[in-house]
Amino acid sequence: MRSIYRYLNPIVHLGESNYSFVFPLIANIVLCVSSEFYAYIIARNPLIIGEYIIFINVAFIIYFSFRDGLRGGYISTLFAICYYFYIIATRHYHGFELSMAVDTTIILGVLYAILASIIGWLKQRIDWLIESSAIEKERLQTIIDQLPVGVIVTDGHGILTQTNKQLNKILGIRMPIGFAIGLDTIPQIKINGSLPIPHQSPLSQALKKGTSIIGREIYYQQVNGNEGKYLQVNSAPIHNKKRRVIAAASIITDITGQKDLERQKDDFLSMASHELKTPLTSLKMFLDLQEKELSSSKSKKAQYFNQRIKDQIHRLSELTNDLLDISRIQTGKLRFKKESFQLSQIVSDTLEGLSGMTRQHELVLRNNFSGQVFADRYRIYQVLVNLISNAIKYSPKGRKIIITLSSQNRHALISVKDYGIGIEKEQQKKIFERLYQVTDRNEKTFPGLGLGLFIAKEIVERHSGKIWVTSEKGKGSTFSFSLPIPHKKG
Ligand code: ADP
Repeated sequence: MRSIYRYLNPIVHLGESNYSFVFPLIANIVLCVSSEFYAYIIARNPLIIGEYIIFINVAFIIYFSFRDGLRGGYISTLFAICYYFYIIATRHYHGFELSMAVDTTIILGVLYAILASIIGWLKQRIDWLIESSAIEKERLQTIIDQLPVGVIVTDGHGILTQTNKQLNKILGIRMPIGFAIGLDTIPQIKINGSLPIPHQSPLSQALKKGTSIIGREIYYQQVNGNEGKYLQVNSAPIHNKKRRVIAAASIITDITGQKDLERQKDDFLSMASHELKTPLTSLKMFLDLQEKELSSSKSKKAQYFNQRIKDQIHRLSELTNDLLDISRIQTGKLRFKKESFQLSQIVSDTLEGLSGMTRQHELVLRNNFSGQVFADRYRIYQVLVNLISNAIKYSPKGRKIIITLSSQNRHALISVKDYGIGIEKEQQKKIFERLYQVTDRNEKTFPGLGLGLFIAKEIVERHSGKIWVTSEKGKGSTFSFSLPIPHKKG
């Protein structure tokens, strides 16, 4: 019964272009024969057919055009017209009646053919569209199955429409088609140690906000599995021409291996910098002792060499400290000892300490703020030293360096302005990244590891402040940072 229904229902055949020839043929023969049978045997009135056969033929043409395309429509049209001529011939029409019947048949024939053409063409066009979108989907599926990353595609309401094999491999579970992202939950997994909160998933947020969520890292575990995995999730909405979100896609990459390597590298960095610190401290101590010895000696050369060694040791210990700080930042172990202090005091102390570093540059202080901040004194000093020594290093032609202290919107602002080499606009954001150094073939290379600004940014941001740069290539740069001014008690 079900298969007969499926065979007869034209909707079921949408998207299939194997149009039947035999079915419309047999159905039309059966229609003509049974109509003649009814007229001659049951109704016993051969003229009775004229009134209802037109409706039945129209119904047949519509049905077969919709079921079997142009072929089904034209077969039904042909049978209808032939049958009408057969009726005219067998019912012995004469004179005016005959010419009326022939004219009507011709007009009906043309109308039937138009009807069959329109419906049949539409049906074939729909089939073609459905088929080509299915082929497109198949092609897309083949491509995404080859990708080394997991893929999730949803419609505009977050209903899962497509995934790939790699996703199942990464997650260790199958996400069923029809799963509602943002509503349904998967009880057998944990995200960052707790059960997933559906509306917080990057895909759900990308759909809701209509913007991409890039580089979200999560720790994924199966409730009854052993080790978890680090996954990186990138989600993006897909808009139509009217900018309405009609779908969304997520790319999921397993970065566990990369994370392990990073951890090993951080462990090594931390160990190496700790190991380096001990011999450096004793070296410094012995050099101080040697300096004392040499002060009584007459050898100016030995004193000079001793001073140079001390300078280099100082640089080496600064680099080691930077490496230590980086490893502390990476492992979340950078701690602060915050206290209230006069910001201008630390700025002038820093300037005093650094003025010996350069003879070419003039360090100018413009102090318009005399308030206190609540911060780690040593770390703020470290940020200042970094900005001022960069200003010195990157203005080799040696001009003024202006340090300004001011306040704005309950924040203390410190800026360091130089007239040095400046930084290209595209590079300005990147210089605060770890290990980033501006490289320019036309410029001389400057020593450094590209760590200072990364550390400075971390320190300032951990004090709820901001750090930024304004610069013009060839004209100089101004590095600024802000620190919140604490509310006065009482
Ligand atoms: P580095 O040890 O290389 O100086 P930083 O993190 O302090 O590392 O700085 C990152 C990069 O930013 C530098 O390599 C340099 O290219 C650029 N930079 C920093 N300060 C300045 C400045 N005052 N003028 C021009 N370029 C600068």
